[in-house]
Amino acid sequence: MESKPAFKDYYYILGVSPDATGEEIQEAYHDLYEKYGPHVSIGGQDPDMLLKTFKDLSEAYEILMDPAKRKRYDEANKQHIYKGDLRRLWGKLSGAPAVDETQQKKKPTVDTLIEIEVTLREAVKGTKKHIRLEEPKSCADCVGLKPVQRMQCPNCRGLGYTSSERTEEVELPAGLYDKLEVRKSALGKYDLQAGRNGDLVITIRLAPHPYLGVLGRDITCTVPITIYEAVLGGEIEVPTATGRVIMKVQPRTQAGRVYRLKGLGLAGADQLVTVEVVTPQQLGNEEVSLYQKLKGMSKDPNPRESLYTKL
Ligand SMILES: [Zn+2]
Repeated sequence: MESKPAFKDYYYILGVSPDATGEEIQEAYHDLYEKYGPHVSIGGQDPDMLLKTFKDLSEAYEILMDPAKRKRYDEANKQHIYKGDLRRLWGKLSGAPAVDETQQKKKPTVDTLIEIEVTLREAVKGTKKHIRLEEPKSCADCVGLKPVQRMQCPNCRGLGYTSSERTEEVELPAGLYDKLEVRKSALGKYDLQAGRNGDLVITIRLAPHPYLGVLGRDITCTVPITIYEAVLGGEIEVPTATGRVIMKVQPRTQAGRVYRLKGLGLAGADQLVTVEVVTPQQLGNEEVSLYQKLKGMSKDPNPRESLYTKL
């Protein structure tokens, strides 16, 4: 026994697009009825199969011509209905004008849009990613058969296409940043209407990093320095997207000062390093008295002086 098809694409059966008007549906049905109705005998065809085909036609017509039934059908099956204009696939059958070959070649394809998350390191260095695409493929069991025969194909349940999976390795070049669109020509899903693969458009998303931030295309970070490094200057190690670099801290560096590391950001932008001064917490008596001595010697003005003059 043949299993009952779970879903029939009535639009495909009638060769009309999912937004076809009632008039277009009626017209398509009448054309098909003329050619494949019960009054017609087609030489060499199994009469049982023809009857089943005709049943599908009437079923499609009945559902799609009833606005309430059509709405229910659309809502239940919107995931599965083929969205293209099927009149071109059916060509002469539905009375639509034949599409000439040169026009077909120029037909724009539909882009396949995906998002890929990359780390900051991958964004700076470039990376390769494997992506899985599910796309329609002409049904091997009924390709080349007449539409009336395709309707009974158990492999594709009359859709004319099946779903296939493909894995692609895509190369993402160095210099990526958030929301960047990378276009890979003809690597997208197969476009049934255009008869070739569309472009793959990859939108880059940056994965969060444990201690580096992103501001536009600059990479940001905050690095603590000791009070001695702040006063005397020194060399400190700073994390970057691809490793660590040595950064020079100038003598008399104020807390909150921002150092710019040229070219270490995204796509040639910079890394901004904000220094945070850590004051000593574990002081012995001798250290405390040295700080007191330093305080007495200091010639710095009151750092809050400007606050008072502005009041
Ligand atoms: Zn098939």
